[in-house]
Amino acid sequence: MDVVIIGAGLAGLTAATVLRDAGADVLLLEAHARIGGRIQAIRAPDTNQYLADLGPTWVWPKYQPVVARWIRSLGLATFEQFNEGDAVILGYGPAPLRQPLPGQNGMVRIVGGPTAFIDALSNRMDAAGIRASAPVIGIHEDGPAQVSVYLASGEIVSAGRVIVSTPLRVAAAGIDMPWAPPPLSEAMRRTPTWMSTHAKVVALYDRPFWRDKGLAGRIASRSGPLVEAHDHSGASGHPAALFGFVGWPPDMRRKDPQGLKQAILRQLTECFGPPAAHPIDLIVQDWATHSNIVTESDLSQPANHPDIGPALLRQAHLDGRVRFAVSEVSETSPGLIEGALAAGEKAALDSLGNRTS
Ligand SMILES: Cc1cc2nc3c(=O)[nH]c(=O)nc-3n(C[C@H](O)[C@H](O)[C@H](O)COP(=O)(O)OP(=O)(O)OC[C@H]3O[C@@H](n4cnc5c(N)ncnc54)[C@H](O)[C@@H]3O)c2cc1C
Repeated sequence: MDVVIIGAGLAGLTAATVLRDAGADVLLLEAHARIGGRIQAIRAPDTNQYLADLGPTWVWPKYQPVVARWIRSLGLATFEQFNEGDAVILGYGPAPLRQPLPGQNGMVRIVGGPTAFIDALSNRMDAAGIRASAPVIGIHEDGPAQVSVYLASGEIVSAGRVIVSTPLRVAAAGIDMPWAPPPLSEAMRRTPTWMSTHAKVVALYDRPFWRDKGLAGRIASRSGPLVEAHDHSGASGHPAALFGFVGWPPDMRRKDPQGLKQAILRQLTECFGPPAAHPIDLIVQDWATHSNIVTESDLSQPANHPDIGPALLRQAHLDGRVRFAVSEVSETSPGLIEGALAAGEKAALDSLGNRTS
């Protein structure tokens, strides 16, 4: 095996695609039964048609050159985030306020959601090149030129190069790397995983009724439980949906999931009127419960956006045999889709060039 990539999120899939296109023999190992990592969609149970996003939604191709290039090369289409009409502002006075809310310059959505990236990239891979439900627990030196990758199943895969595309704190906590110098392990432990402690809510409706009243579907709230919400309908207004981020801390969400749903419906009804109380479905995706994404360190510290991490994270280790490629490693837009694409691409190109720095 030329290269083993650990983690089939966007960064791992991007690295795999670049390496495969260059003729390398690649194996992508994913811990979860599903590929995509933080990118996940709700799909219609009968047709599997994309309905809404449970992970990321927006990209900014106007300001993100790597996103713009991959959108073009994968033949994806985009449309603007709907923001026509007033937002509803809660907690800034005794009653909800209605007013236009700017601040979405250049923000677009991908037709089919960011899972369109995952589908397009994975379709370019040989099916045998991706293994799901294959958690990795160790990366050890194997002679002067090889690396042994240990799976939880007991299997050992030997490779010339390894790219670690898991969240850095998850790797530091769960993948044994005896060769890693203390400053590298420390840099991994210190890097928060963006959005890993958040919960995202999607409410699906039969039509975008809020638009009839000149409302944009947007909420900015100090009182919660949603701290913000947005119109999440398809480009044509169908399927009709709203999404929001939950302000309740993870332990409170875990203790009372039904109470959370009821409070969300009350808040949506306060903002958008009685039809909001009766969604076709209300889905809460709590990323703080996903052990392949979040760690205790993320949960016990404030959810800060990652800074640009130390160069050590972007350098090769073990004489060029091991590299890291997850969004938080990137020098540009760390934590975002742009960062994942850039990190995956860079690690793959550096591996091909056999650069040791
Ligand atoms: C709710 C939410 C909203 C977001 N909104 C936006 C947005 O609007 N715009 C934006 O640009 N970004 C957004 N983001 C961030 C964006 O989703 C990430 O930057 C991007 O998806 C990261 O991709 P990645 O491949 O680097 O990492 P990940 O997606 O975290 O992939 C890592 C993979 O490694 C796997 N893994 C972990 N441990 C192991 C192991 N031991 N063995 C094998 N595999 C393992 C995991 O299961 C996972 O599949 C959002 C994220 C969330 C959660």
